[in-house]
Amino acid sequence: SPGLYIVATPIGNLGDISHRAVTTLRGVAAVACEDTRVTGKLMQHIGLKQRLIRYDDHASDATRDHILSLAAAEPIALVSDAGTPLISDPGYRLVRAAREAGIAVTSIPGPSAAIVALTLAGLPSDRFLFGGFLPNKAKARADVLAELGAVRATLVFYETAPRLADALAAIVEVLPGREVSVARELTKKFEECRTGLPAELIAHYAAHPPKGEIVLLVAPPGDGPAAGLDPDALLIEALKTQKA
Ligand code: SAM
Repeated sequence: SPGLYIVATPIGNLGDISHRAVTTLRGVAAVACEDTRVTGKLMQHIGLKQRLIRYDDHASDATRDHILSLAAAEPIALVSDAGTPLISDPGYRLVRAAREAGIAVTSIPGPSAAIVALTLAGLPSDRFLFGGFLPNKAKARADVLAELGAVRATLVFYETAPRLADALAAIVEVLPGREVSVARELTKKFEECRTGLPAELIAHYAAHPPKGEIVLLVAPPGDGPAAGLDPDALLIEALKTQKA
């Protein structure tokens, strides 16, 4: 039926495309995407040839209106280059406008690098804060780290290989003593996740310059689980209450 379908796609391993993502993409009239070459490859892999429309949040109102007028009449998908749309990727403005226009919005869930990293790092996962990309400039980056570092939650940031050393150095300075994790090339052949003190990771990556895509996580303040309580015990309590 007509509407906007937000479809998550793999973050590296094509095997992670979901059954529902494939059937949804097969059923849409067009796919709005960031880069038609990247999405074209995915469509080819699953044997589909739907029309592709370039879209990002900087697109003109005319492009957005065009996509919305299509979605009012037929099913239209939104995908990003990798992972879940809207998560440090385009889509927020389109979804907002679709809801305002009374167009149905459905989400077909799938991989997101932030969640994959959180399941690997061995840092508290009961409470986390997704910080997107840290700012490029040193002062702005330190300000964000100081602000978010006060929250009792594991911090999750998206990073790129060339910026990793600067980000780790900023964490040593602004949030000394915090454990960090570097999760790299998730779901791909050279997947790696290292947890330690930033100084150890700085030394490691100075000797082995990192490649590829990176998620950087920072442990919460204090020691132990984010809420200061055993998260497994909390979960068991919650489930008991639910049953009763
Ligand atoms: N929407 C995507 C998602 O749901 O994960 C994120 C898009 S954002 C533009 C790209 C960033 O996501 C990369 O710089 C990296 O921090 C992270 N990322 C994406 N794929 C990754 C992977 N396979 N391994 C590690 N990090 C990844």
